[in-house]
Amino acid sequence: MNHRTHIFFSLFFLAIIYEIFPILNSYVLYMIAGVIAVIAALIPDLDHPKGYLSTGRNWYLIHLAIRRTTTHRRWTHSLLGSVIFTIAVFPIALVWGAPLNIIPFFIGYLSHLVSDSLNPTGVNWFYPKKKTYGLKLIRTGSKREEYFQKIILVALVGLWLYDGLYNGGSLFRGP
Ligand SMILES: [Zn+2]
Repeated sequence: MNHRTHIFFSLFFLAIIYEIFPILNSYVLYMIAGVIAVIAALIPDLDHPKGYLSTGRNWYLIHLAIRRTTTHRRWTHSLLGSVIFTIAVFPIALVWGAPLNIIPFFIGYLSHLVSDSLNPTGVNWFYPKKKTYGLKLIRTGSKREEYFQKIILVALVGLWLYDGLYNGGSLFRGP
């Protein structure tokens, strides 16, 4: 999936989780959580030379370090990878004075694995086990991915409007 799909899907996935568990909003406000989840959702593709962050100056060295350990969609695209990265960013969250920020980080990271699971290559969820899980629904870069992006975007904005206008859920309430 391309980075735009991952960005939209991470915000949508996070919104759904926040609607199900409104308490999360008192831990980390959705609007802050959204920024964190988006960054987290872009991290797994640091294992790909054309990943959105891989080509950026700030992340290039991290990309190279990751590439020394893996090819595309191996440990970075697994539950193990999501735990490793969440542990790795914990000191940053601590210094920031907001250790609970690792919650949206973890959710954002997982959202990447969920959306990649919709395409035929699938995801190595239980690395180091070799089996991959993919639904063969959407090929990366296909027309279907474009439609998927639009559907997710409409659903996301719909959820935001519902929540904001009718105070329907927990997204924009204070803690
Ligand atoms: Zn990916």
